[in-house]
Amino acid sequence: MLRCLKQIVVWGALSLSVAGFAQAKDIDISGVRFGVNGKVTRFVLDMSRKTTPQIFLLADPYRVVIDLPEANWHASDDVKTSGAVAGFRHGLFTPGTYRIVLDLDKPATVQSIFNLPSKGGYGPRLVLDLQASSRGDFLKAVAESKKARPIPAPTVVDATPMPRRKGGKRIIVLDPGHGGPDPGNLGVIGVYEKTIVLNIAKEIRRELEKTGRYEVRMTRDRDIFWPVRERFRIARRMHADLFISVHADSISDHRTKGGSVYNLSEVASDKEAARLAARENKSDVIAGVNLDVVDDDVSNILIDLAQRETMNFSAQFGELLVRELRSEDVPMLPRSHRYANLGVLKAPDIPSVLMEVGYLTNRSNAKFLNSSKGRKRIAKATVIAVDKFFDHMVALGR
Ligand SMILES: [Zn+2]
Repeated sequence: MLRCLKQIVVWGALSLSVAGFAQAKDIDISGVRFGVNGKVTRFVLDMSRKTTPQIFLLADPYRVVIDLPEANWHASDDVKTSGAVAGFRHGLFTPGTYRIVLDLDKPATVQSIFNLPSKGGYGPRLVLDLQASSRGDFLKAVAESKKARPIPAPTVVDATPMPRRKGGKRIIVLDPGHGGPDPGNLGVIGVYEKTIVLNIAKEIRRELEKTGRYEVRMTRDRDIFWPVRERFRIARRMHADLFISVHADSISDHRTKGGSVYNLSEVASDKEAARLAARENKSDVIAGVNLDVVDDDVSNILIDLAQRETMNFSAQFGELLVRELRSEDVPMLPRSHRYANLGVLKAPDIPSVLMEVGYLTNRSNAKFLNSSKGRKRIAKATVIAVDKFFDHMVALGR
């Protein structure tokens, strides 16, 4: 547990030096294929060189996780899966680790894994054979793969909290949702949520910094993954005065469009809010995080008196943000201030909101969110709401 915590802190520290973290990516992935032979599903990666990946299995849902050194992905994602594999995702998981997650629709265990040298027009390949299995055998393999995983070497990074603000500037932490092997929603215009919300958050940062009144920090400013709970821990370590998580929604009815702002509540404001929370909270599962090693210290935070004040401030900021988004002509849902049990909003001492900027499943909404005009309007509204919020805090003597 302690080791896990320490590691999380280390990740947090690394994220702060993101800009300077241009590590050499030493592997190129140029192709991906699936094939079936009887009960065996074969997964092939075309690689620029031989590599030894770390592989482990996760249950409920059945997943195979393949960790490679940091890699450049040039392969097409438009690949038909087959056999036991129903889908796959990939992306930067932590600095230095590129993760591929295979979603299985039935249990299958790793029969073999090997590298093939260049031959017959193909370059070096990594081959993984999965053998259909019973659930019992899969669970056994999960336990074994956990045992076989080497304990990551402790990284020596200065994990001390960041200094508090200087010169009276308020610290705002922006949290673009998803990232790396968790792409979020794929909109009708073919751009992932993780990309759209990162661009929006960067625009908000630019506009907030322009005022000279705020110090803006981001949980991520590139395409990398963070566990849900780690995001608000980063905010706490950064001494955030305000935390804004940025997401974009999807729904089966493609006519639905408009943004909404969420505050934390153990009771969802409606069915739609509960559905959204279930989906957004699943980010760790999607990225192949082994949930039983994630410590659970915050899942039981009760909404008690100590947290009540933070909740009130969060709700006030939520209200301001909705109003300003509307007046900047950002399309909004009719009932756009909602409540849900969202893991990322659980910092007990930082006013926090989650902004769903709109629906990527609606074409005009998705285009707006992916446009510079759309980003600018959202950023402008956010700055005005933040200004009003802190004016209010000053008036309260804070
Ligand atoms: Zn999201």
